[in-house]
Amino acid sequence: MNYPKTAAGTATLIALAVAAGSVATSASASAEAPAAIGATVAVAAARASAARPPIVYDPIPFGAKRKNQMAAYAQRHYGVYTSSFGIPKQVILHYTVSPTYSSTWNWMAANAAAGGNAGTKKEKPGACTHFVIAKNGTIYQLAPLDVMCRHVVGLNNQAIGIEFVEMKSARNILRRKKQVAAGRALVRWLQSEYGIAKRDVIGHAMANKSRFFYDRLGWFNDHDDWPTSHVKIFRRGIL
Ligand SMILES: [Zn+2]
Repeated sequence: MNYPKTAAGTATLIALAVAAGSVATSASASAEAPAAIGATVAVAAARASAARPPIVYDPIPFGAKRKNQMAAYAQRHYGVYTSSFGIPKQVILHYTVSPTYSSTWNWMAANAAAGGNAGTKKEKPGACTHFVIAKNGTIYQLAPLDVMCRHVVGLNNQAIGIEFVEMKSARNILRRKKQVAAGRALVRWLQSEYGIAKRDVIGHAMANKSRFFYDRLGWFNDHDDWPTSHVKIFRRGIL
């Protein structure tokens, strides 16, 4: 676990799961557990038991300067000067519109100023997501989970971002078995770590309607990656 604080109750849920003898040993088994057992405690046990998938830690530069830029961004947009991430409440799915993992890493490492919706002023820090999933299913982590990454308007202080390498449509990701399986395994683990509900795993295209959406400057998202119809298919494999 990368995050220094444990989500409230996680330890209890794990203890319950152990006591019940129902800790699933694989992510796929845990995803199927709720249907098999059905009680509240059983669902909690399934959440607590989702296995951490293999993750390659490949950090982009995120030193004091970029953290200060993130904190200043958070001040402008959320009213709180901090680059620290609290307990995440949502997961936002994206795709890169960049052809490879390495081109995506370079883009995120470059820390180039970016705007919000069309016509807004470009600001630093540059975009990043905590995770990027390559077409072959390798999961990379580019930033620690205790810092905010800027990947979505209105939710950077609430949401973990996951980018899938893809140029045109989430439909193509759903067709790549290894890539979508890795994405679902990662999301299941994040759900179990932080108690994130299925409805809070959303696409970038859905972000403006999130119940947590907030931007003090009136910015909004104008990206259409991962619309609802594709996210609903993705959700079939999560908790
Ligand atoms: Zn996006």
